[in-house]
Amino acid sequence: MDTKRQIAILGSTGSIGKQTLDILAEYPDLFSPYLLTANTQVELLAQQALKYGAKHVIIADKSKYDTLKALLNGHDIIIEAGTEAISNAMCIPEIDTVVTAMVGYSGLEPTINAIKHDKTIALANKETLVVAGEMIYNLLDNSQSKIYPVDSEHGAIFQCLIGEDHDSIDKIILTASGGPFRTKSIEELQHVTKADALKHPNWNMGAKITIDSATMMNKGFEVIEARWLFDMRPEQIEVVVHPQSIIHSMVEFKDSSIKAQLGLPDMHLPIRYALGFPKRLESKCERMRVTDYANLTFETPDYKKFPLLGTAFEAMRIAGNAPCVMNAANEIAVAAFLNDKIRFIDIPIIVQKTMENVSFIEHPSYADYVNTNTVARKYASSIIK
Ligand code: MN
Repeated sequence: MDTKRQIAILGSTGSIGKQTLDILAEYPDLFSPYLLTANTQVELLAQQALKYGAKHVIIADKSKYDTLKALLNGHDIIIEAGTEAISNAMCIPEIDTVVTAMVGYSGLEPTINAIKHDKTIALANKETLVVAGEMIYNLLDNSQSKIYPVDSEHGAIFQCLIGEDHDSIDKIILTASGGPFRTKSIEELQHVTKADALKHPNWNMGAKITIDSATMMNKGFEVIEARWLFDMRPEQIEVVVHPQSIIHSMVEFKDSSIKAQLGLPDMHLPIRYALGFPKRLESKCERMRVTDYANLTFETPDYKKFPLLGTAFEAMRIAGNAPCVMNAANEIAVAAFLNDKIRFIDIPIIVQKTMENVSFIEHPSYADYVNTNTVARKYASSIIK
């Protein structure tokens, strides 16, 4: 009998997906890649399937199905296309763990299905919890499914909370690198380019999350992600800028003690921990020498320069479909910025205008989230044109 954990990687051709495959290859006796999915990168998906021995592949972009079939011709691999196929694959009984590493809103439906089928989830797609955290946690109440965070900050908090009572937590302190524009003035931000925004000082990540880091929308998303993952009230979450990205986050307890988790800024660490939990998997990876990091510094975030961080706190307090609207507008604005259609400083303006104009729903159903996402994207696109 195969006792290896069978893993599905949703978004295997992205930054987190590739690093997850590294981890599976590091522990071939523990893990096996069962299913790989990608949005459009069909050649890379086929290469990965052959190299890592996946049994099933799905390309979201249906127009690439024939190419994928041709690339994998003669191999015993199930090939499918379309986003429905990705969601439907969550009921495959062989799959134990699902790594949700796709970008944005697209993560929501397959995550819901994975929960309904009691899968263990290594959650990298933070937008799922931003958009519909309340619904996801209601679903988890009636499921054997568990969510383990892959995001480095949340992985750090998760580690700090082991052995602690929920009641003893005072607050969560999320660290933020501050991104590439931490030391720029508001005036300078008017002229920054796409290339400037894509140069993250510490982390090597995909384009969407790198832009979200430059606006600090990413940290705002992480605030909402933390609210649901750790069942915190909005006022229990704080953000601190820590430019070295060595302390991945902290928890302050009621006795005033603060616990922190430290490590090199390398996503393999939180991925390894999320997949290995409750075990710590031994690794020959590069070690951090604390004497190399004698100067760890902390700053209060600049909410004027990075208005989307404040917008995220506001969306969290308003709740309902407000975070869903914020996320949808941000996806449209970031795509427009990456296509040279708007300036960097237009991103928060588009998000805020969309939030003012899409109707509020206090207790959204799944259908309400789907509709809110569509309406908010349309509205945000209409202001860009
Ligand atoms: Mn993060």
